[in-house]
Amino acid sequence: MRNIFLLLFSLSVLLLPAQQYTIVLHGGAGNGLTRENFNDEKVAKYERKMAEALKAGQAILDTGGEATAAVIAVIKVLEDSPLFNAGKGAVFTYEGTNEMDASIMNGKDLNAGAVAGVTTVKNPITAANAVMNNSPHVMLSGKGAEQFSADQKLRLEKPEYFQTEEKKKSLERSKKSQGALSDSLWEDTKMGTVGCVVLDKQGNLAAGTSTGGMTGKRYGRIGDSPIIGAGTYANNATCAISCTGHGEYFIRYNVAADVSARMAYSGVSLQEAAQTVIQQVLREAKGDGGLIGVDKDGNITMEFNTKGMFRAHVKEGEEAVVEMFGE
Ligand code: ASP
Repeated sequence: MRNIFLLLFSLSVLLLPAQQYTIVLHGGAGNGLTRENFNDEKVAKYERKMAEALKAGQAILDTGGEATAAVIAVIKVLEDSPLFNAGKGAVFTYEGTNEMDASIMNGKDLNAGAVAGVTTVKNPITAANAVMNNSPHVMLSGKGAEQFSADQKLRLEKPEYFQTEEKKKSLERSKKSQGALSDSLWEDTKMGTVGCVVLDKQGNLAAGTSTGGMTGKRYGRIGDSPIIGAGTYANNATCAISCTGHGEYFIRYNVAADVSARMAYSGVSLQEAAQTVIQQVLREAKGDGGLIGVDKDGNITMEFNTKGMFRAHVKEGEEAVVEMFGE
């Protein structure tokens, strides 16, 4: 009798279709992200890079890889591109340095890792992952995070590697405007974080976020991106979320975890929860930004209250969709 049960159980596991995987990414949100501000060539560049990042994640998931591995693969492509504000291309602090934050969370066991204020780690998302898997901690910062990354044999770069002309100009522009946020393009250069959420074939969720923070930030400033619950959150019971926007608001309103909590406590859908948090809670607080999310059934959300948000998504066996602007 017991053997028959075992046989039936194994058969049902074998016959059950695996979960169709889903990947969603963002490359930052902003109010200068409008069609007029981008020529065709620039649009094509961004679209190509986002499509390439999705492919890197698909390569992992197609062969049964885990959600966290796909999140890392996607984010690494975006960190290595100077187009986005993460890794190479990170924005400058007021003092002219590049200080990066990143985090990752596994929805299966709620394990998480983060680094803050790193200046030499080529791919901060890999450092966050190493903290999650190879340390008893959730967050390491500054010199300690860098020493740990070196111990973990992660690739380090000289600070100059992260500096790009375009982001240097953004800092100069921001210094000139002295906080008068009238120029929408300058407003945009404050943002541009990257993030990714994944539902893998095993039904596990994961989320990750990586950023250079905001142009002209004080050195030592840490935003929402490395803070679990604020910029990143994943829980197999609800959803995986990665945020982008004015970090101080995302921290104060605990945005990523709030979406998950609304789903858990009120039973609302991912889309409804995301919409309420971004369009009501944050709007009322005057917090600019957006988020991406995927739930345990593969439903997705890409909600933002800015003019645009770099974003892309793909489901197993379907065409990828890449977008930048709002309606
Ligand atoms: N949330 C990031 C920060 O405040 C910035 C961004 O998303 O563009 O550091």
